[in-house]
Amino acid sequence: MSESANELLLTGGRIINPATQYDQPGDLLLRQGRLAAFGPDAGREASPEAQRIDVAGQIVCPGLIDLHVHFRDPGQTRKENVLTGAQCAARGGFTSVVCMPNTTPAIDNPGTVALLQERAKAAQVNVFVAGALTKDIAGTEMAAIGALAKAGVVALSDDGHCVQNHDLMRRACEYARMFGLPVMDHCQDYSLVQEGMMHDGWYSTMLGLAGWPSSGEELIVARNILLAEQTGTPIHCQHISAAGSVRLIREARKRGVSISGEASPHHFTLTDATIAGSSEFWATDGAELARRLFAGAPLPEWPAYHTHFKMNPPLRTATDREAVLEGLVDGTLEIIASDHAPHTETEKEKEFAFAPFGILGLEVELALALTQLFHTGRLSLVQLLAKLTCNPARFLQLADHRGTLTVGGAADVTVFDANAVWVSRRDETASKSRNNPFHEWPLRGRPTMTVVAGKVVWERARPW
Ligand SMILES: [Zn+2]
Repeated sequence: MSESANELLLTGGRIINPATQYDQPGDLLLRQGRLAAFGPDAGREASPEAQRIDVAGQIVCPGLIDLHVHFRDPGQTRKENVLTGAQCAARGGFTSVVCMPNTTPAIDNPGTVALLQERAKAAQVNVFVAGALTKDIAGTEMAAIGALAKAGVVALSDDGHCVQNHDLMRRACEYARMFGLPVMDHCQDYSLVQEGMMHDGWYSTMLGLAGWPSSGEELIVARNILLAEQTGTPIHCQHISAAGSVRLIREARKRGVSISGEASPHHFTLTDATIAGSSEFWATDGAELARRLFAGAPLPEWPAYHTHFKMNPPLRTATDREAVLEGLVDGTLEIIASDHAPHTETEKEKEFAFAPFGILGLEVELALALTQLFHTGRLSLVQLLAKLTCNPARFLQLADHRGTLTVGGAADVTVFDANAVWVSRRDETASKSRNNPFHEWPLRGRPTMTVVAGKVVWERARPW
């Protein structure tokens, strides 16, 4: 970018601002790290020295926000660190992410928040931090919530774990409300789930693996609805996997309860049949979609018991997957998040029972969302992008009009091709890890450019 003008003009794109349902062709002008203008005449406001980038054929929208990622920093940086994680985000079209606090040590005190914030200054994207609800995420004693709020966390969560003591959760919600912080929860009842490692159903029985029943999630979703109602604290149920959870949230939201839910691409794309081998999965769920979208594309082959399909909460049945999609369509689930969870090959290449839960997600998230929700005709681009921009920004109360295109607001912008067909490969990643279950999957739609604070932080090699 020219230093004298400090202006960047994206020309000829299709501009979408989900917050206002805006969807028009035009130009978008960024100046001095702020959004200066957008629309058919925005180009006229650019100075002659402005850097111009032709984005014809591309979608231009507010920078995508993922409020659920694990960058493993501090303490588990063999898996990922805040810089490699941020590179994944940039490559995935995300300009802002929220790091979960289940690090080593846990982010349960202002010192660790400050450490991560300091490291994140060198990151390519905006890295926000979630603080823990309880000390060391142990679920026994409340974390110093006031101090965490002062240190600048944007939300509270014990993600990876779940506070089992309902009174402790209630008190934590009351404190969160006092400090204006939203609460996010990984919904898992330990007494029902025990050692469960995949969905409790036909396939777990067939494969001889311990089951993680849907009720283990639904029970805590119900608990959170009651506590949101009692305390008035907004509670966000993370990575919803079960049909019953979607139904509970839908009913509660109808009554005006401050409860919300998110869906992760793997839960609305895959089912537990993948753990029995991919051909089974394709036969039951994926074949029709693949035929329609990727005529002739080769389908990936995975052996049974592959640990890339082990995540928490687990992949569930085709009915659950459909319910999550329906929840996204009718607005019950307002937010899409990756739960980007890197693990090294050494850790993942173990027997199913001993491998850790979790998969990479940031670099395939937009493509999977487009493939499953836009290209199937379930949602318009405006509706889909709201779940990746203004909805998470509103829930987190982010400053600077993030998640929207607002003149004078943050100059965070994502540019993507909604139709490009490509194949995801596990080695083509900025992550330190390779646990991508979508290896060799044909996908439709991918990011082309990521702009943070008015600067291009990542761009796909041309030709796009
Ligand atoms: Zn989780």
